[in-house]
Amino acid sequence: MGKKNWNKGKNGDDSFNRNRYSNPNANKPHVEGGKYVYQGQVTVEKLSEDLGLKAIDILKDLFMKKKIYNINSVLSDEDIGEICVDNGLDFEKKAVVSPADFEKVVEKDDPKDLVERPPVVTIMGHVDHGKTTLIDTIRDSHIADGEAGLITQEIGAYQKVVKGKKITFLDTPGHEAFSAMRQRGAQATDIVVLVVAADDGVMPQTVEAIDHAKAANVPIIVAINKIDKAGANPEKVKTALTKYGLVAEEWGGQTIMKNISAKKKIGIDDLLENILLVAEMKELKANPKREAEGVVIEATMDKKVGPKATLLVKNGTLHVGDFLVVGHCYCKVRRMTNEFNKSMPAAGPSTPVSITGLAEVPQAGDQFHCFENEKEAKQIAEERAQKDAVASSSNANDGITIANVYDRIAAGEMTVINLIVKADTEGTMQAISDSIAKLSVEGVTTKIIHAASGDITEGDVILASASSAIILAFNVTANALVTEKAKENKVEVRYYSIIYQLLEELEQAMKGKLKPVMKEVVYGHAEVGQVFKASKVGMIAGCNVKDGIIRRSANIRVLRKNVKLIDGAITSLKIGKDDMGEVKAGFDCGMVISNYKDVQIGDVIEAWGMEEDKTANGR
Ligand code: GDP
Repeated sequence: MGKKNWNKGKNGDDSFNRNRYSNPNANKPHVEGGKYVYQGQVTVEKLSEDLGLKAIDILKDLFMKKKIYNINSVLSDEDIGEICVDNGLDFEKKAVVSPADFEKVVEKDDPKDLVERPPVVTIMGHVDHGKTTLIDTIRDSHIADGEAGLITQEIGAYQKVVKGKKITFLDTPGHEAFSAMRQRGAQATDIVVLVVAADDGVMPQTVEAIDHAKAANVPIIVAINKIDKAGANPEKVKTALTKYGLVAEEWGGQTIMKNISAKKKIGIDDLLENILLVAEMKELKANPKREAEGVVIEATMDKKVGPKATLLVKNGTLHVGDFLVVGHCYCKVRRMTNEFNKSMPAAGPSTPVSITGLAEVPQAGDQFHCFENEKEAKQIAEERAQKDAVASSSNANDGITIANVYDRIAAGEMTVINLIVKADTEGTMQAISDSIAKLSVEGVTTKIIHAASGDITEGDVILASASSAIILAFNVTANALVTEKAKENKVEVRYYSIIYQLLEELEQAMKGKLKPVMKEVVYGHAEVGQVFKASKVGMIAGCNVKDGIIRRSANIRVLRKNVKLIDGAITSLKIGKDDMGEVKAGFDCGMVISNYKDVQIGDVIEAWGMEEDKTANGR
């Protein structure tokens, strides 16, 4: 049931029937801002407790409406709605999320349990602009007391202490790793440090990095690097960045830009202090008291210790001995080490740790969650494995396409069409982007999250997938690997060679007028081996499915010696006495064809249907 605003009475006043029941001043623990929010099943007793009403009054009122309930009766959503209305309350039913879908569960922390947590930083930028050098320089400097002299291990992330506060750095530079994680539903990064070489300026991957960070809504700090070089021109870099919405603070903008030399170690402290400043503004907090949850930063199969992974704890505290679920495996954390290979008994929020004890090698970007005991962890892991198996056998998770985008908007699943524009030249890219911005359709907006010249890259596909975007390709192509990646990630790439056609199709899609091009698909064939007469249903064709699949809902045609006799439908499909939704190749089944009695041994039944031809438009 949807949310309705029932606050107003019939005459527009909001005192209508308010507190009609007795006990009006009772505590209403589940009512916030005049709204009753509930989940799952609610009995009369629970509702009376939640709303601070007497159960007997609720029962009486229901009785007046000819509904005879007792205190343990489960109320329908309509009943709950009516009782709320009678009490001048708004109401909302929250979907119940299974603990097995822990990625979707948002557990509220008690504000008094929240403490400041270190920011998690990713360094991005164009190739050769100095990302690796900066990572190494930061790693080698600022070694905390007690850690000096220890050799750092490559675990994919590390922490630095700056002015008594920690900063977590993710080691994997590059926008692909960044968005690949987001694509898997995990946003690990709080702040992006964008490295731009002062002697080279803004380059294509600089722009790409900006777009990836913006799409993830992550603040950017610009590190203008290589200022020690003769040709360095930081002011030119700042000017160039304004074009991409990054305006330096000293020019009245919002972006912190610092001149550094990663190689000569100039300006590093200042940069780190500014990271802390941005973190402070973001008020990053977490609850170290709860069970840990977080994300896999990297994972490998270690010859000696088996699967090994670096986890970043996002919330809660991870302890040795905890039971955690990642992917569809569970494990007991056996050993936890930091970047100095020092054993850690516990790891709090924003701490990266390398762990062993996993059953399988997880994927970077997988989220993990800890559970109270082994039994619960095992059960949740099994439930997830089952769900994965079902999901991989269905096509339910279709990506955003030009043909379905309007329906998604109309269904309230999304409000904006995210687009990536790739074109053969900067000029056409600009022209297309400008024209798209001018398209105006009420209730629908478009957002170009990335536009560039050049062929479609793997990075484009990952960004599109992470941001539910469609790629519009003008006079450019994608190589086989990228095409495969797009298919795998259900990212639609639309190819055009006429700007007008691109704009027209997009406009039609925004208006919901772009009809998908349909094509016929044959699902399978069954051969009739026997024919039975059944008085009630007519003729039953005893068939063997030769190839594909015969679905009860499919259209069929009866072929005799390759000549079509009739078009029809299946009214009954059974194996033995059981009704079947579908029968796969190799199985025998009994089939009744609607309004057709002349079926004969040797006839072939072809099952078919119409499906969207995804290759038809725009190509
Ligand atoms: P990445 O591809 O962005 O990771 O870039 P690297 O960190 O590998 O750096 C590319 C090159 O630039 C290397 O030869 C570095 O030594 C050099 N480099 C990086 N930072 C600086 C700097 O601040 N000054 C100078 N002069 N060279 C630098």
